[in-house]
Amino acid sequence: MAAKILDGKAVAQQIRDELKTRVARVRERLGRPPALAIVLVGDDPASQVYVRNKLKTAEEAGMGIQHERLPATATLAAALAVVRRFNEDPAIDGILVQSPLPKAMGADAEQQVFDAIDPSKDVDGFSPISAGRLVQNREGFAPCTPAGVIELLVRTSTPIEGKHAIVIGRSDIVGKPMASLLLHKNATVTICHSRTRDLPAMARQADILVAAIGRPAFVTPAFVKPGAVVIDVGINSVTSLEEARRIFATRPERLDTFERRGSVLVGDVHPDVADVAGAITPVPGGVGPLTIAMLMANTVKAAELRARGGGRARRNSGLGL
Ligand code: NAP
Repeated sequence: MAAKILDGKAVAQQIRDELKTRVARVRERLGRPPALAIVLVGDDPASQVYVRNKLKTAEEAGMGIQHERLPATATLAAALAVVRRFNEDPAIDGILVQSPLPKAMGADAEQQVFDAIDPSKDVDGFSPISAGRLVQNREGFAPCTPAGVIELLVRTSTPIEGKHAIVIGRSDIVGKPMASLLLHKNATVTICHSRTRDLPAMARQADILVAAIGRPAFVTPAFVKPGAVVIDVGINSVTSLEEARRIFATRPERLDTFERRGSVLVGDVHPDVADVAGAITPVPGGVGPLTIAMLMANTVKAAELRARGGGRARRNSGLGL
């Protein structure tokens, strides 16, 4: 039987609709809407698309936006200076620095930039303060992608408590926070990665399988227990017709996109998994829209906390909680 489709686009729309009254309330309290600053360094094509989508969604939500662009040749000091300026700006509630930063900035540039963001404005949830708060299940900002996955599971009445959740991937922005959030929802959690032995056999134990790997169609039906819930976080652009044909051998209708655009978006989960899983997220239209909705939710939450604090930016306040 074909898997139930977990419609991320619809849930994301629901979340954005719910934010409207909260945005209006912030506007009353602060005399301005919640405001998000987005910093884009360089001209990575995927990053430009992501930033464009975030700006568009923020605008549609009636939020304030500041978009700062730095050239690919910008120094780390220049990026840090922009972050500090937004940290000090009382009219900004959330700061997002689009990842990845140009390689020329240095190996630990991202870490340094995330470290510099005021935790009360860390709406991406990438700072060590946010990560620590998440692990301790305290109030704070969870990274948007895993937070969106939890919203999707909860809002589609997918049981989590007592289930065996397996997360493939251990990145700081998806895999690890995903595992923490599932644990806080009382799942029994296993994290797998590139050194996990016999990954398909391990993955087959999952009631909830989250794939956050970055490899197109990597998770085949052999990884999936019949009836399992499969969450596909991966977003991979496949540009080879041969590879697209291989992946969509049983779903030729998906090749239409390739023929029109010369590329097709493929998740980390093979399309044939839909024949085995009980429920599955599509790509596109699954986890992606939720990530942006949760960015909006985190920005509104940051503004609400600011409003509660009397409209002052409380620098390094640890959210003032
Ligand atoms: P990442 O930092 O590259 O991490 C990938 C993880 O996958 C690593 O932990 C790696 O293991 C593991 N992995 C790689 N090859 C593997 C293999 N053969 N077997 C088992 N594990 C393997 O990627 P990420 O930032 O977490 O992103 C993962 C995917 O999600 C990407 O496709 C990305 O584009 C997508 N993404 C989507 C959204 C969204 O909004 N939907 C947001 C963020 C990311 P090791 O640690 O051992 O190397």
